[in-house]
Amino acid sequence: MEGSGRSWIVLRIDSARCHVCTTCYAKAACQGKAIRVIDRGEAPFVDSARCRGCLTCIPSCPFGAVVRHDPL
Ligand code: SF4
Ligand code: SF4
Repeated sequence: MEGSGRSWIVLRIDSARCHVCTTCYAKAACQGKAIRVIDRGEAPFVDSARCRGCLTCIPSCPFGAVVRHDPL
């Protein structure tokens, strides 16, 4: 599902898996600029208001840190 604005798909970054890469591959792959870094020493987060639900970020992270967290 792709479009603009909110999506029913909810993603989050699993901080236990995130290696806090110098350049976040998932962030680089996200065309909606929905993956954001606030503190360079911590895992990025997914801004659900910007996420289009394209899921490009999931395979882009080599550590599997981007995970689906959809509401039931
Ligand atoms: S989400 Fe993945 S690519 Fe991004 S900083 Fe964490 S481990 Fe690296
Ligand atoms: S699914 Fe991932 S790559 Fe696609 S817009 Fe949302 S955060 Fe960005």
